[in-house]
Amino acid sequence: MKKRLLCALLALSLLTLPGCKRDPEPVEVTAFAMDTVIQLTAYDGNTGGTRAFLGELTARLAELDSQLSATREDSFVYAVNHAGGEWVEVPDSTVFALLHDALSLCETTGGALDITAYPAVKAWGFTGEEHRVPSPAELETLAEKIDYTAVALSDWAGERHRGGAALPQGMEMDLGAVAKGFAGDLLAGEVRDVGITSALLDLGQSTIVAVGSKPQGTPWRIGVVDPARPGSYFAVVELEDCAMGTSGGYQRYFEQDGITYWHILDPDTAAPARSGLVSVTVVSPCALTCDGLSTALFVMGLEDGAQFWQDHPELDFEVIFVTETGEIYRTAGLEGRFSLAEGYEDREVKVLE
Ligand code: AMP
Ligand code: MG
Repeated sequence: MKKRLLCALLALSLLTLPGCKRDPEPVEVTAFAMDTVIQLTAYDGNTGGTRAFLGELTARLAELDSQLSATREDSFVYAVNHAGGEWVEVPDSTVFALLHDALSLCETTGGALDITAYPAVKAWGFTGEEHRVPSPAELETLAEKIDYTAVALSDWAGERHRGGAALPQGMEMDLGAVAKGFAGDLLAGEVRDVGITSALLDLGQSTIVAVGSKPQGTPWRIGVVDPARPGSYFAVVELEDCAMGTSGGYQRYFEQDGITYWHILDPDTAAPARSGLVSVTVVSPCALTCDGLSTALFVMGLEDGAQFWQDHPELDFEVIFVTETGEIYRTAGLEGRFSLAEGYEDREVKVLE
């Protein structure tokens, strides 16, 4: 009996020794926002408080969503799209920052990312269930309506002078290609501000932000979806205080007469981007960069995308490209953070220097 008691005491003391500490319990909160399931997980040992805090974050996300949704009639984006060219007041500095940063990415990517693609997105039926293939003449007219340089955004001069946004009559915008990334950065900032050092913010549809590392101090290991078999991961990327975003033809699409039409459109043609790529994954400390650039590089294709990566070291990002013939390319900066997943070890990975 005494022996058992001693063993129990020993086990207890071992658990409290440095190095033998138990991981804090994960606190997980799931919500539906921005058309997708969001999962926020934090490890900080303060279960009750953290759950309430993560709940507040999902409410914040819902609030942002209500301003950005292109389909909700009470949203800011809907108001701009239906103002007939008139100015609409920007509701707050967060929405202003998103618009400002999104337009700047449109410019940097030479319009491969274009937030005014919305009339074309609607025409293909990607906002609802009724998909259709517009005629070549219709596509020509739609392509003429895509031009981010026509978005007017006045300066933000504080709460009293919020500034406004305007679009020419007939044009419409949609922040779907960047909103999740922007939201990821926003939430990660709040998580860090309250002192949480280990969290994983999954914004759904392949935008994920790692705050710090896993509780044991090792990096998070995040799978990259195989576009040919969306139920499996072909690679694993290690993330520590870093984000990752994927744009893939497999994420939203329809088929007609044996042809697959996906939701990422080429602003020049208003049709699904046929660049030879089926997925682009971007890794960067900035989730907005991941989200915006994964869409833009998908449009650009491998050659122009790799050139863009070389030309823009200031954007601090790395890329994994998958071509329609199944070739895998990754940029050199992922060395030590990228590995092929189980079952894919024999695949060749070409490194872009
Ligand atoms: P993502 O899933 O981040 O690649 O964004 C794709 C979404 O952004 C689509 O569902 C459209 O709503 C919109 N979109 C499609 N093509 C573009 C484009 N070239 N630039 C900006 N937004 C786009
Ligand atoms: Mg995107």
